Amino acid sequence: MSRGFRNSDETQALEEKATSEQINAILERDREQASHAADVRAHGHYGVCEDCGKPIGAERLEALPTATRCVRCQAEWEQTNRV
Ligand SMILES: [Zn+2]
Repeated sequence: MSRGFRNSDETQALEEKATSEQINAILERDREQASHAADVRAHGHYGVCEDCGKPIGAERLEALPTATRCVRCQAEWEQTNRV
């Protein structure tokens, strides 16, 4: 095995570790989002974007019941809160 291969194995191991950390962070964020969505629902704001105040599309809520932002605000939020 050449040195080059060894290095690439190590790089891959590091990448795999980063990936599982990212997955954990995403799962954690999903849990937080789910409890946040339950909170929003409890206050009667379910289905309204918490950033712009516009209604969240029914299709989006059906696909993602924990959504508390419209597609546009969610995309912006993800840009600034990237895991
Ligand atoms: Zn919005």
